[in-house]
Amino acid sequence: MRRVLLVDDSPALQAAVAQKLENAGWSVRVAADAEEGLISALSAPPDAVVTDLWMPGLSGLQLCQLLRGEPATAHIPVLLCTTSADRRARFWAQRSGANAFLDRNDPDRLVAELEKLVPPGSEAPPRVARTSDPGLRRSTIPGRLSMLLDHALFEAVVVGELRSLAFDAADIDGLFNAFSRLLTDIVAYSWLALSVPRRHGVRVFIHQHPRHGGRAIPGAVQSVVSPADGPVELRVVSDALAADELPDGAVTALPVLLRGKLLGRVGLCASRASLGRDEAAVLTLAARELALPLHAVGLLEETRRLASTDALTALANRRAASLRLDELARRDLKEGTLSIALIDVDFFKSINDTYGHASGDRVLCHVSEVLRAVARGNDLTARWGGEEFLLVLDGASTATARVVAERVRGSIARTPCLLDSGKSVPITVSVGVATFDGRGLDAFIDSADRALYRAKSLGRNRVEVAGAVDDVTPPERT
Ligand code: GH3
Ligand code: MG
Ligand code: MG
Repeated sequence: MRRVLLVDDSPALQAAVAQKLENAGWSVRVAADAEEGLISALSAPPDAVVTDLWMPGLSGLQLCQLLRGEPATAHIPVLLCTTSADRRARFWAQRSGANAFLDRNDPDRLVAELEKLVPPGSEAPPRVARTSDPGLRRSTIPGRLSMLLDHALFEAVVVGELRSLAFDAADIDGLFNAFSRLLTDIVAYSWLALSVPRRHGVRVFIHQHPRHGGRAIPGAVQSVVSPADGPVELRVVSDALAADELPDGAVTALPVLLRGKLLGRVGLCASRASLGRDEAAVLTLAARELALPLHAVGLLEETRRLASTDALTALANRRAASLRLDELARRDLKEGTLSIALIDVDFFKSINDTYGHASGDRVLCHVSEVLRAVARGNDLTARWGGEEFLLVLDGASTATARVVAERVRGSIARTPCLLDSGKSVPITVSVGVATFDGRGLDAFIDSADRALYRAKSLGRNRVEVAGAVDDVTPPERT
């Protein structure tokens, strides 16, 4: 026979409901308040609990939370009954783990709902529970409840802080720093690692105490990287905030998943032989909640990348190059240390006309590959417009820039472009070089443009430097 525990402080209502349930074939046990109900449920778990919402002392909601917190009763269906149509109470009942929220004056509905939750034949064999606390008494219940609520509040605060990382972090490095700062406040670890897939390979962040030096790195990488991940790019953050014990504790690694998609992995080396139960729970929570900020920061970085990248050549686009130039020109520049080379493909229109637009695009990609190969360190290579490219040479004098420009010109002239048709097409470029003189960006770019025009008019496939002779004003060029 299915057993139901009925918790209600109104004897009249209790009797009416009990009658209905008995008629429907239930064995009914009653309790006059939540404390009595909890003790009864823990000593002999029923198949279902029906409880009034508001009662003197503990409420039905609190009873529900207490039942959910005990292994013996965690899975027993709980029906909350009230005459109140309070939406907030209904919402909170659902969040507290109640299975249904019903009108107290509708016992037929109550019986029907119980039948659904515990169909005939699905009852558990009668058992006397081993309560997790055999000394459970009325007087100890408030203590249990406050522990339970404190635990739930702690989790809610940790979840809130982890989720807010999605709003605060501007990039993945910032996210990892904030994440590790939060985790060090809760768990003592020897190192913390996070791996994030990139287009080619994987980026691994490690937070550790400076005392570890390079010792912890192989283990940390191993915990969050699989052989199929490809090349690893390492970012190690060492600061005294991390626990300074040696990395000889237990290693735990967890995936960070969003709707089943792997966004990364979190690895942690405990500073003791094993991770405590609470610490393990925090790590599980952290890996779960990191998904949202990781996703948000990933989108932000991708948007930033798309906004600053040329779609055809994957070089920086004009916008990104202008921003970088602006940034460099604002810097307290020693005159003569910022140069640019403006590069224009010669007779490009005739390549398009002869071989078709797609082959023209292929030539543009070919030129960008050569430029990439010639550019060094913090040089910026950009597609400035149609078949025009810009090389930003930070720290380069005019003489250096001329050498780089010559290298670009020569390299392109020596490397014909292989079209899809198998045909090899010789390409040349003309280059205008200019060095920043503090007169503003427009004047800077304009002087490179004039030098480029001079290179064109002097026969193409050559480098000209701004200011070497009086530049003529170029006509509008596409
Ligand atoms: P010059 O030696 O004087 O620079 O001659 P040019 O033919 O290279 O210069 P012009 O400015 O007359 O022609 C540039 C051509 O580049 C015209 C335009 O259709 C083409 N173009 C611009 N953007 C693209 C592109 O993305 N793909 C292709 N295939 N062609 C492009
Ligand atoms: Mg051209
Ligand atoms: Mg042009």
